[in-house]
Amino acid sequence: MCSFCNHTSTCEGFNSLIVPYKLAPQQLVGVVGLEIHAQINSNTKLFSGSSVRFSAPPNSLVSFFDASLPGTLPVLNKRCVEAAVMTGLALNCSINRKSLFDRKHYFYADLPSGYQITQQRQPIAVDGTLTYSLLGGKKRSQVIRKTVNIKQIQLEQDSGKSLHDDLRSQTLIDLNRAGVGLMELVMEPDMSCGEEAAAAVRELQLILQALGTCQGNMSEGQMRVDANVSVHKPGEPLGIRAEVKNINSVRCLARAIDYEIQRQIEVLQRGQTVQNETRAYDSKSGETIPMRDKEGLQDYRFMPEPNLPPLIVYEDNASLPTGIDARQAVVVQKIREGLPELPGVKRDRLVQTYGILPEHSFTLVNEDGLVEYFEAVLKVTKKEPRKVIGWVTNELLGHLKEKDMSVSHSPISPSALAELLELQETGHISSSAAKQVFQEMWRSPGKPASQIIQEQDLGLVSDAARLHSICQKVVDSHPNEVHAIRNGNKKVLNKLMGLVQKETKGRADPVLVMAILQEKTS
Ligand code: ADP
Ligand code: MG
Repeated sequence: MCSFCNHTSTCEGFNSLIVPYKLAPQQLVGVVGLEIHAQINSNTKLFSGSSVRFSAPPNSLVSFFDASLPGTLPVLNKRCVEAAVMTGLALNCSINRKSLFDRKHYFYADLPSGYQITQQRQPIAVDGTLTYSLLGGKKRSQVIRKTVNIKQIQLEQDSGKSLHDDLRSQTLIDLNRAGVGLMELVMEPDMSCGEEAAAAVRELQLILQALGTCQGNMSEGQMRVDANVSVHKPGEPLGIRAEVKNINSVRCLARAIDYEIQRQIEVLQRGQTVQNETRAYDSKSGETIPMRDKEGLQDYRFMPEPNLPPLIVYEDNASLPTGIDARQAVVVQKIREGLPELPGVKRDRLVQTYGILPEHSFTLVNEDGLVEYFEAVLKVTKKEPRKVIGWVTNELLGHLKEKDMSVSHSPISPSALAELLELQETGHISSSAAKQVFQEMWRSPGKPASQIIQEQDLGLVSDAARLHSICQKVVDSHPNEVHAIRNGNKKVLNKLMGLVQKETKGRADPVLVMAILQEKTS
């Protein structure tokens, strides 16, 4: 059993994603290797000037080249090459100064040329690593770092889309996607369960989004993950693998993999053998089902692409040969200098700078715009970051999630939240009243906390005479509790405090109340 199966609610991939499985007595364990197709975030396609847009009218973004009209030739899009180099650098790959394009032949209706241009022999980037983290331990607060090796990143074309119209029993072809640039990332079989794969893919998603090289939305097909899964006994050669396709969320990825590992273990336990096949994940039933026999028999008839010269990238401006315009060339050094802060570095920085818990740094970084929100709140409040974090990751994020809203659409601005926290920090309101004010701020966007406190009379009650009389009433009506306190059970004081707060709708000054209660029960 995977030792990391403690989940946290901070990451999509970690949510209720494990179908727990028991290890067979002979200790078969899962082996997982991912192949990921990431659509390159570029205005135009890999080899043509057609625009790239999701959900445009069918066949509205198709050039003659995309439709494979005879005589058309590919023109490599520099932006796609730069995106692949940038992604390679962020994933610690070596960038091949020279890479090659090849034709991989398929016969698909949505592939008009009958082949895909890819990088089979010499891809643009090789030998990288992706470091990702899991939250483990009893309290899910222990950060466990893991690394998966990346074999290569290759540039290739996307295919078109076949739309099956069952009513008229015909298939329609949309070529908008045909020729869109893809980065295929091939990972080594270094992972062992669904949760690891989910965490790795989630991290990759965040990295690609930080780089801006891919939008990374799995449900829109911008990132497509195929999972190769096998089982074996540790120390023995790897088992026969099945490839699982049709996975459209991080959560499904984890479920599909764990289902498949369990299925293969059961196949072997029955004395049968695992088939080398392609299976589809059915998200309704949570099962993987056979799709077709794996390419064992399929011959892709790879051949060098004759219409494209080798792809050359340069280390720095100094290594540019004379006659090559620096603006036309892809210069690795320049791309390296432009790399943004990556999610792992950002998390470490947040933990170190603000003294927050690692699991909070995950929540912040996983949610688009939340780090910026948190830091904007901190700028205008003196409240300690460690106290602000709960408001951002529980109250605010909780409300946003409930309404399926993004941080950028929050009705409460960072400065409005900061004002509320400041009023609490300076003793104007209690923490429970602050929560009430927060609710009202959520309902009435733009209304300042101070106004709500005034309108609803939520200010802290620190009128000593009034608190004395409330405390007296509570003490008089709870003789057993008072007896317990006098016998040394000081914890019972909290119960009395709760009753006083109930009486004042959570507005009583807690320090004052505690002092009065202690006096009355001593
Ligand atoms: P192929 O040449 O058949 O495409 P590769 O060696 O390129 O095979 O591997 C394809 C993918 O399958 C990689 O992501 C790799 O990690 C994964 N893989 C290879 N062997 C196994 C295995 N026994 N179990 C799980 N995954 C595997
Ligand atoms: Mg391969």
